[in-house]
Amino acid sequence: MKLLVVEDSAELRGSLVRSLTAAGYIVEQADNGEDAAHLGSTGEYDAIILDLGLPVIDGLTVMTGWREEGVATPILVLTARGSWREKVQGLRSGADDYLTKPFRTEELLARIEALIRRSKGHAATVVRIGDLEIDLSQRVLSRHGAEIRLTAHEFRTLAYLGLNKGRVV
Ligand code: CA
Repeated sequence: MKLLVVEDSAELRGSLVRSLTAAGYIVEQADNGEDAAHLGSTGEYDAIILDLGLPVIDGLTVMTGWREEGVATPILVLTARGSWREKVQGLRSGADDYLTKPFRTEELLARIEALIRRSKGHAATVVRIGDLEIDLSQRVLSRHGAEIRLTAHEFRTLAYLGLNKGRVV
């Protein structure tokens, strides 16, 4: 699964990229609104993490542009603490979810998983393929109730295929 991370703070961006890569995602990044606008319009992502306060072009403008172009990728916006206006504006401009800084990596991962799952048309957290059961929230693969151990990357790959069941990936 491929994500776009847009954040101008090098420290936060680096930490996001590390956590998401460790969780098995392929991550591309941008540190300003102009590059982000270009990448989001031309690249294929399963989700976008977008900071709103960005140099060159602000995040709200970038996101509004994507939605006007018909980019339907799920977007999670990162907002400043206590800024309810940013959250409301973000959601009204096409964001699917938001997270207030500072946040826990675990919460970000859980929200991204939920966004991707819903965008692929799965409300439930368990995907079944034949006798295999992929529990996306517990990250457990089982067959007839017996757990099959996988690496993070293997699980992510399988989950991606499961979410795209019936489609060519
Ligand atoms: Ca910022």
